[in-house]
Amino acid sequence: MTAPGRDFASPALWWDGITRSAPEPPLETETTCQYAIVGGGYTGLWTAYFLKQRQPQADIVLVDAQQIGHGASGRNGGWLMGSLEGLSTFANADGTLAEPVRRTLNQLVTDAGKALSEANIDCDFYHGGCLMAAARFDAQTDRARAALEHFRRLGFSDEDYQWLSPQRLKERVSVAKPGGGIYTPHVARVQPAKLVAGLTTVVKALGVRLFEHTRANNLSPGRVTCDRGIIHADHIVIATEGYSEHGSPLHRRIVPVQTGMVATEPLSASQWDELGLHQRETFADFSRAATYLQRTADNRLVVGARGHYQLGGLPQHSLSDDDALRRHREKVALSLFPQLRGVTFTHSWGGSVGVSRAWQPHVIHDRATGMATAGGYVGEGVGASFLFGQTLADLLTNTPSERIHMPWVACREIAALKKWEPEPIPRWGFNTLMSIFRFEEWLASRYGGSLASALVAKLCDRLTPH
Ligand SMILES: Cc1cc2nc3c(=O)[nH]c(=O)nc-3n(C[C@H](O)[C@H](O)[C@H](O)COP(=O)(O)OP(=O)(O)OC[C@H]3O[C@@H](n4cnc5c(N)ncnc54)[C@H](O)[C@@H]3O)c2cc1C
Repeated sequence: MTAPGRDFASPALWWDGITRSAPEPPLETETTCQYAIVGGGYTGLWTAYFLKQRQPQADIVLVDAQQIGHGASGRNGGWLMGSLEGLSTFANADGTLAEPVRRTLNQLVTDAGKALSEANIDCDFYHGGCLMAAARFDAQTDRARAALEHFRRLGFSDEDYQWLSPQRLKERVSVAKPGGGIYTPHVARVQPAKLVAGLTTVVKALGVRLFEHTRANNLSPGRVTCDRGIIHADHIVIATEGYSEHGSPLHRRIVPVQTGMVATEPLSASQWDELGLHQRETFADFSRAATYLQRTADNRLVVGARGHYQLGGLPQHSLSDDDALRRHREKVALSLFPQLRGVTFTHSWGGSVGVSRAWQPHVIHDRATGMATAGGYVGEGVGASFLFGQTLADLLTNTPSERIHMPWVACREIAALKKWEPEPIPRWGFNTLMSIFRFEEWLASRYGGSLASALVAKLCDRLTPH
């Protein structure tokens, strides 16, 4: 199947050249269904897909306030990971993750690949694993070793997270300062917009009723009141994540944090010979505010780095990012790969991820009211939404599975999710944290090994969530 989509005339690389026949209509009447899904990103779409796998006759309505794929699902870095943000918060008292939890996560990428191929969705899925490296300054080597220990404590084996000496790292990727790193097979690359567009086509073909430009303004058990229509539903799934605004029960329970990407022009074979990543591995360095990249199917380098928090805790609707952020991301890319100097960066864009107060993802099902939600992924929702969409479908259809017993699943009220402090406290907190992380990097790159650098690193260790 060719991935459909629409031409957003987009600053986001992913939407360039993707066209779709017609937008979905807005909901302008009163309608009744079994399952109403609010939010057309991966969480909403995978939930609809797996509901249809379990109950082919199910009547499902999915609405999005804008276009399907408007949120993070149409803008991300395309790392489909067999991991979750805040993994250690799901550990047992002895510090390890239960064996079924590790198995579920280790299986996730392969399962997603199978599901994509069964659904005939072409989204440039490539299961090349991931290199996480000390790559820009010496202090990153200690962080890489600490990360490996962390994975070992959780119970992951050498097959899951394997140490690479500086020499072995250098053989795989030619970074500025190879200080060693970790290879994991549990990451695949995808083209995010092709995934969202492919899923949309599939669920529509399965009979899911789709409505765009339909904002749910009020949600109560059994009823979704939209701007121009009403949905009566036995079950309601809220999948609004980092775009949860007034009207969503997740407003202030999930706050939006902005992050963004830059993309180069397609690089030549000889440039790739110099860079490495021949197995099309994804790549990240050990900076606190995540610097991550992928080699695309058309041989570009797409690099994401750094977040910020908007005034008023508002999500980022526009795709384009400001120039300072673009320049910063280009600078980070060049400091990782000085050999890219002179390459043209063709695209720059940003969007919002969703962060819960506990800084960990969740699947919640309230049996009494029929309301459910999944999210709080921070920057790790591409793979997680595949797993959580299946989990929601299991819970809503009473299908027994190992998934519904995972430690991130709770059967309780959505209102039990803790609210964030009022604005501007989260903004101050987040932006201060980012400034301290920036200062740490600045110190480490100029005065690495100094007492000041070590003290600030200690402070950052304490401040890093989980
Ligand atoms: C720049 C960037 C890079 C990222 N990189 C990665 C990565 O490489 N790997 C990874 O795992 N994760 C990454 N993420 C995070 C990942 O993209 C998200 O976690 C994931 O896409 C969330 O999917 P979702 O369906 O839950 O939410 P979203 O895709 O954000 O969808 C929410 C939808 O809800 C709709 N909506 C909101 N309110 C309403 C309402 N009231 N009524 C109707 N509809 C509503 C919105 O319009 C939106 O379409 C990145 C995110 C960004 C922004």
